[in-house]
Amino acid sequence: MGKFDLIPVARDIVLESIPAMIFVVDSSDRLVDANRMAQETLGKPLQEILGHDPLDVFREWPALIQPFFMTENTRVEIQIPTDPPRILELIITPLNNEQGQLEGRAIVAYDITERKNLEVALQQRLDEIQALHQALREQAIRDPLTGSFNRRYFSEALDQEVARAERDGARFSLIILDVDHFKKFNDTYGHKCGDLVLQSLARFLQENTRRGDIVCRYGGEEFVILLPDTDLDTAHQRAEELRAQFDAMSVAYESLYLRATFSAGVACYPVSAKTGEGALTAADQALYRSKETGRNRVTVHAG
Ligand code: GH3
Ligand code: MG
Ligand code: MG
Repeated sequence: MGKFDLIPVARDIVLESIPAMIFVVDSSDRLVDANRMAQETLGKPLQEILGHDPLDVFREWPALIQPFFMTENTRVEIQIPTDPPRILELIITPLNNEQGQLEGRAIVAYDITERKNLEVALQQRLDEIQALHQALREQAIRDPLTGSFNRRYFSEALDQEVARAERDGARFSLIILDVDHFKKFNDTYGHKCGDLVLQSLARFLQENTRRGDIVCRYGGEEFVILLPDTDLDTAHQRAEELRAQFDAMSVAYESLYLRATFSAGVACYPVSAKTGEGALTAADQALYRSKETGRNRVTVHAG
């Protein structure tokens, strides 16, 4: 075998060994070559490919037709309707002669189905992890019984609100409320009944406050509402409306309709105190006054 014969032989071996389909068309768009992998994947012998119009040869793979006729360097991904469907990456390379005239085109098609499947699976895993992360974050800031924000979240929100009020010269108010004689629900009807009262109260507060208000379960049967940009009078009015509405409500438990009330205390930052903690204490003191003076009432911090 002479030195020059080696080249065509090697080219043939390369063409047949590359794990990709390779098609070549001439300048009048007739198929002039297709390697073995191309024949096998297409399911057509060479004589049904060579000299034929690509429109006929690729009748079963219509997605291939449009990119197949590209005369620029092109890289696209297409899906072919094999069973199961495969995803191909097509690389179309114009073949120019020495005068720069188009002689034909080479089309290399790699099967990238496995990689794509892995990418999809990976994306699914990432979505799952993100959902899990979100759920964990929710768990960290929510009280599991009522879905209200928890005390930890409240502390953060309070600090943020103090910083914001300071920066903008704004104010905010706090309403602390505590269910009256809550123990009697537990003692009379059981813990499950007590839980239901707490859940009903939480939903009631959530539904009857503004979107910007932050409703937290502060302790057992104690809730605190942070009302941004709200002065003492407005907060007092809101607390009174909530109290009256809740007083008029009944909570269905098994065959019973239970009535519950709460007492509340209201304070405003920076009117009632110069720190967030101080405002909370002020509201708590007002709540204590409500309890002392008969319950089912709202007291504003005296200042
Ligand atoms: P007051 O009017 O003075 O507030 O009386 P009270 O009975 O509401 O207050 P007390 O502090 O004596 O009782 C609160 C009870 O709340 C005691 C506790 O067992 C109960 N409790 C705390 N957390 C939960 C809970 O998650 N579920 C239920 N069912 N009960 C709870
Ligand atoms: Mg109570
Ligand atoms: Mg209490």
